[in-house]
Amino acid sequence: MAFNSLTDRLSNAFKNLRSKGKLTDADIDGTIREIRRALLDADVALDVVRSFTSRVRERALGAEVSDALNPAQQVVKIVNDELTEILGAGVDRPLNFAKNPPTIIMLAGLQGAGKTTLAGKLGYWLKDAGHTPLLVAADLQRPNAVTQLQVVGERAGVPVYAPEKGVQSDGGDEVSAPGETTGDPVKVARDSIKLAKDKLYDTVIIDTAGRLGVDDVLMKQARDIRDAVQPNEILFVIDAMIGQDAVKTAKAFDEGVDFTGVVLSKLDGDARGGAALSVASVTGKPILFASTGEGLKDFEVFHPDRMASRILDMGDILTLIEQAQKQFDEEQARAAAAKLSEGEFGLDDFLEQLQQVRQLGPMKNLLGMIPGMAQHRKELEAFDEKEVDRTEAIIRSMTPEERRNPKIIDGSRRARIAYGSGNTVSAVNGLLQRFEQAAKMMKRMSSGQRGFPGMGGPG
Ligand code: GDP
Repeated sequence: MAFNSLTDRLSNAFKNLRSKGKLTDADIDGTIREIRRALLDADVALDVVRSFTSRVRERALGAEVSDALNPAQQVVKIVNDELTEILGAGVDRPLNFAKNPPTIIMLAGLQGAGKTTLAGKLGYWLKDAGHTPLLVAADLQRPNAVTQLQVVGERAGVPVYAPEKGVQSDGGDEVSAPGETTGDPVKVARDSIKLAKDKLYDTVIIDTAGRLGVDDVLMKQARDIRDAVQPNEILFVIDAMIGQDAVKTAKAFDEGVDFTGVVLSKLDGDARGGAALSVASVTGKPILFASTGEGLKDFEVFHPDRMASRILDMGDILTLIEQAQKQFDEEQARAAAAKLSEGEFGLDDFLEQLQQVRQLGPMKNLLGMIPGMAQHRKELEAFDEKEVDRTEAIIRSMTPEERRNPKIIDGSRRARIAYGSGNTVSAVNGLLQRFEQAAKMMKRMSSGQRGFPGMGGPG
């Protein structure tokens, strides 16, 4: 995630406090200096860092003695509260829907920010929630933007209104000159609303043109589209990887189109994402969504408190649970749990569970939402998604009987399975061994031993 190194630096800053029973003013000042450096190195805007650290300092020095929290925990809690604040806790709200459909959502931002990709994700997300979205190709400037939106729409299963072809390219990176006529985006946007009303689309997502830098022609075009369709939401999409320019760009778009909400994109990237963290606080506008990859499902509703908790490596269990609830079939899960406790959990059940978990997205993203995982990032990074593919392939090469009752898998069956799945016999052996161990462990746990192995109790 874009905040990995910030997470590491902050947990280091807190580590030194952990051993102390009582904090002196000097301890607090030292920690705050480290936090300040960590934020600045992550590209968080200077003004934001200044007010953040002064608030943390004031609260930490004046903190009441707490029975529930030790001094270090108290400082972490204060940092967590203030980080949540920076991320827009005060202005946090869900997407604004029109009382009378269609709800009109306009996307604005620099070229390459991720608007077209976001249009597909938003469309997919809305459709999933029972809406009838329409995507509108009003970026007639970026080469192939119209075609790209059509592809994204098709993938998402969401219709696209694209009456103009826009600039076409055969693969070069050219950008059309300002003012070059490539069709009228304002007319496209206006017509799309008529179409939505006629055909009863309840949300219209308008993709608009961006440029490599902020410019007047671009801003005027965005304003013209805005004035023509009066959107319920103008979402400013900002690439979390652009660094210090994020704040300048956000301010320019805020003045230019007076956007209503922010979408942070490319949060999956490795670059320092701190500038994006400043955007809510600098503009006073809420961050509504986060984009975390190139796939349609790499998208989440943004919650300041959950993001703060993730940055502080306190996990984001709520998002994990929500994603799981969407994918998991509760009945099936209950049946699997029953089988587990009766020791009847076979490889076929395992395969089913594995597939459900995989639908939640890459394992790395999921594991990243578990508290304390930042310390294990190296292992996470080394996690090989292909290993899961191999496991699936091996199980698929087994007969139903073998999956139900792995004990019958003898040497010749192992050789057949290895051959059938394109793996070695030792890979098959390894999987069977791991499965047997896991089954034993599950049996032990369900027969009355409490807690997970390896996890100490509190304290
Ligand atoms: P636009 O010019 O604003 O419409 O930007 P695009 O939607 O075309 O995105 C530009 C590039 O960034 C494309 O290659 C996208 O696949 C990629 N992209 C968009 N969103 C994300 C994201 O959340 N994560 C990653 N890693 N890439 C993204």
